[in-house]
Amino acid sequence: MIKVAIGQDSHRFEPDGSDKKLVLGGVPIEGCPGLEGNSDADVVLHALTNAVSGITCVNILGEEADRMCRRGITDSSAYLKAALGHMKEGSRIIHVSISIEALRPRLSPHLERIRTNLAELLGIVPCCIGITATTGEGLTEFGKGIGIFCTVILTADIPE
Ligand SMILES: [Zn+2]
Repeated sequence: MIKVAIGQDSHRFEPDGSDKKLVLGGVPIEGCPGLEGNSDADVVLHALTNAVSGITCVNILGEEADRMCRRGITDSSAYLKAALGHMKEGSRIIHVSISIEALRPRLSPHLERIRTNLAELLGIVPCCIGITATTGEGLTEFGKGIGIFCTVILTADIPE
């Protein structure tokens, strides 16, 4: 059975002077403040985790991730792994489509590294992950550079 799920997330930037690092799709990115949140606030991994939850119908972000955070687990790849742990045995991720809206940082130089890292985390080949980025043209809070917004659509083949 083919299932398609959507995941979304957004975070605002830390105030100027914060030393929190920006991490997107598990990749550290220099030259831009980090995002607010009790974890590493990796908005791409959070949207992806939500998309996996959309397939499994078991939500991780929220209570479960907060519990992990209190135990000191702030690397968002752990939340993704927790969500993937609820995929039915024999499930196969067919494709992941990611759209990021952010005025800053300039994302194009980082997209390949993010793709490679996500492919590794998901156990699929990078050509099954498409990532597009838009600056938002100043029209939204994200387009004004206040934060980053991410949408993920995930397609998976789930055994009946
Ligand atoms: Zn988040």
